Amino acid sequence: MTLHEIKANFGLPVTYLNPSRLTPANGRSKMGGDETYLIPEIDICPSCQQKRTLILELYKDEFPETFFPSNTDYLQVKTCYNDQCIDISDIVFKLGFGKILDLSPNRESMESHIPTVYFEPIFDVEIPYDTYESIEQLGLIKLLGVNKYEELIGEFTAKIGTKINGDIFVWHPIDIPKCSCGKKMSQFLQISSYEPCLQPEEDSPYWEWDPSLGVFIGKVGNYHFFTCKFCNNEEVEYRWDDL
Ligand SMILES: [Zn+2]
Ligand SMILES: [Zn+2]
Repeated sequence: MTLHEIKANFGLPVTYLNPSRLTPANGRSKMGGDETYLIPEIDICPSCQQKRTLILELYKDEFPETFFPSNTDYLQVKTCYNDQCIDISDIVFKLGFGKILDLSPNRESMESHIPTVYFEPIFDVEIPYDTYESIEQLGLIKLLGVNKYEELIGEFTAKIGTKINGDIFVWHPIDIPKCSCGKKMSQFLQISSYEPCLQPEEDSPYWEWDPSLGVFIGKVGNYHFFTCKFCNNEEVEYRWDDL
């Protein structure tokens, strides 16, 4: 089997969001800055009573490949970065969905430390490795031998960076959440502290990396949102990891 066939048979579609544009050439979806709409359920931190910081907002008409529960067309992720609310035992990025017609526009600016950055998306596939392998893929690994197989798929395994779908990029293994139907849930959104598109010349070792946009997930970490692609129960789970 050639790499091309492996990608076609086993690849998980992925949209690398590549947050890198300071002006909105390609759309309204973005990271950082002020949120465009208010999702009251996730707006205020219950511990400090202050507005949470916007991490990301996505519009369904721009990224329909993202999971949106029925009757929603807007997604937002927020967190609280106030010192007293940062708990490294569990970093909570709150995910909210809404229907734009029913949402109120945000009129408040909160001077986020995360700059407003728009996307230059790239579409590809990632070949699951140690995560979502099918019986067929496991058979192929056995047939080719692990080393040969790893060499073949090397540059198409999960990548760091904020992305839609694809395979999970983790520094340390995590347990992928399971749906009540018994199947592993699929990642539909990964948010990363480190954006490779913003560090094209990076030559320092990864343990010296800093968050590219001020999105702290522990040190340099990744936040993963999952849902089941086999059921329509629309349940969402999350996991995170960091260095
Ligand atoms: Zn707080
Ligand atoms: Zn399920």
